[in-house]
Amino acid sequence: MAQDELVFAPLGGVGEIGMNLSIYGFDDGARRQWLIVDCGVSFAAQEHLPGVDLILPDVRYLIEERRNIVGLVLTHAHEDHMGALIDLWPRLKVPIYATPFAAALFEARRLSEPGAPEIPVNVVPLNGGVTLGPFAIDLVNVAHSIPESNALAIRTPVGVVVHTGDWKIDPTPILGAPTDQAKLTSLGDEGVLALVGDSTNAVRDGRSPSEADVAKTLAELIRTAPARVAVTTFASHVGRIRAVADAARLAEREVVIVGRAMERVIQVARETGYLDGAQDFRGTESYGYLPRDKVLALCTGSQGEPRAALARIAADEHPEVTLNRGDRVIFSSRTIPGNEIAVAGVINGLVGQGVEVITDRSHLVHVSGHPRRAELLDMIGWVRPKILVPVHGEALHLAEHAKLARSAGVPHVLVCRNGDLVHLAANGAEIIDEVPFGRTYKDGALLLDADARTIAARRRLSFAGIVSVALAMTDKGVLVADPEIELIGIPETDASGGPMSVVAHEAVEEALELLPKARRRDPDQVAEAVQRALRGAIAQRWNKKPICHVHVLTV
Ligand SMILES: [Zn+2]
Ligand SMILES: [Zn+2]
Repeated sequence: MAQDELVFAPLGGVGEIGMNLSIYGFDDGARRQWLIVDCGVSFAAQEHLPGVDLILPDVRYLIEERRNIVGLVLTHAHEDHMGALIDLWPRLKVPIYATPFAAALFEARRLSEPGAPEIPVNVVPLNGGVTLGPFAIDLVNVAHSIPESNALAIRTPVGVVVHTGDWKIDPTPILGAPTDQAKLTSLGDEGVLALVGDSTNAVRDGRSPSEADVAKTLAELIRTAPARVAVTTFASHVGRIRAVADAARLAEREVVIVGRAMERVIQVARETGYLDGAQDFRGTESYGYLPRDKVLALCTGSQGEPRAALARIAADEHPEVTLNRGDRVIFSSRTIPGNEIAVAGVINGLVGQGVEVITDRSHLVHVSGHPRRAELLDMIGWVRPKILVPVHGEALHLAEHAKLARSAGVPHVLVCRNGDLVHLAANGAEIIDEVPFGRTYKDGALLLDADARTIAARRRLSFAGIVSVALAMTDKGVLVADPEIELIGIPETDASGGPMSVVAHEAVEEALELLPKARRRDPDQVAEAVQRALRGAIAQRWNKKPICHVHVLTV
């Protein structure tokens, strides 16, 4: 590899939603040094992965390269950018850099996880910077749906890369400063080699409405509500929480916080000054004592999560918070693809109780934190990159972002995939190699390789159940007791009403009878014959083959 080379590789988040992790490498002729940007998760609900809580990027390449990693910078505190760090950091032990809010929320998240190790985070002030090996990084403020979101201006000896992180243009965000157009324009004046940017909304024309417009709608809906109001939104959306709190105060309603994730974020937001001047919120214990037109419940569960506050309220299972006919629930959120059925379940539960439900389909009660096409064009116009690499999106989003960039005259546009090693140089971008990448599953307290057999076996189990057989035999191959057979997850009777357990017993007995005496002495041959007979007999009735486990105990 020649020296003075700059490379980029996404290890997650490109060609998919979530799990953002990018690396930049610079080689000065000695050895390539790496900068990591973000380390996020994606959620397993949509993935048909039974029992898997989270999906994390596979970082075996980074573990290999650990000594050459100069640090990890977080663009912002969303889970799809930060959520894998608690689990993966012990394997990497690299220095982490984050702004005050992200560092505080990370620490609060860490403390909520039993047994999580101490993880040091270096705090970088807003609009500050840090130099890590050959990378001099400046934080550039961008508007988004969580406080302190940053684009990174990454200066290297061969040029500047602007890594946008998640952003939008919002001239009137509720919290924080608008996207720093002046800084981005001055970077453009200086000359930007590459723009690596958010593609989430590249299929949407125009511009996103402002958080201030959403705040106005919320205030009106809260003011005119006849009885109780509950609002659900993303727990980390402090700007939206602020807007709801302000609206509640104007409507002379107390705010009751329902849900631990929301409490955690609010505590961090109080500590970092993002709720300065907002009224004190109440705990759920006071909910029942407040008059119906004097209370607003701010709840977790906008994605229909079954254990979150709103799902429990909708199922009338919350110990302290209830809603009745005439109350109003506002979903100040968007349903993330994959969660539609769960959200519909919650909405139907509420409507079934006579509650009025308002969503972003009928009212401007939510806006995305990502740039639409006119905003993407503004960014390109400010930064004027030689190269544009679309990231943070599925294949369609990347392709649309690329097309838009080409139409705007960006000289070199390159669409890549997770694991592609992209060479960035003044004369263009090129995929020059591949680095190992993949997925890791968070399964309870453990991390599993995505290609481990565990989850595949679990899926098979869930599809066709299991038959477990225990046989006690003498060393001559004579049964000393009735076979013990247990069927789990298998229909109890066949189409003619015959018990499946009888089918199984007969299959086991017949298999043993048919087995020649000599072979009956070999436990392995017994097990194999019984297994084959069982699967065959059950499949004949059911048209599905269960997993069979046969244990032969020689007594
Ligand atoms: Zn994101
Ligand atoms: Zn984000």
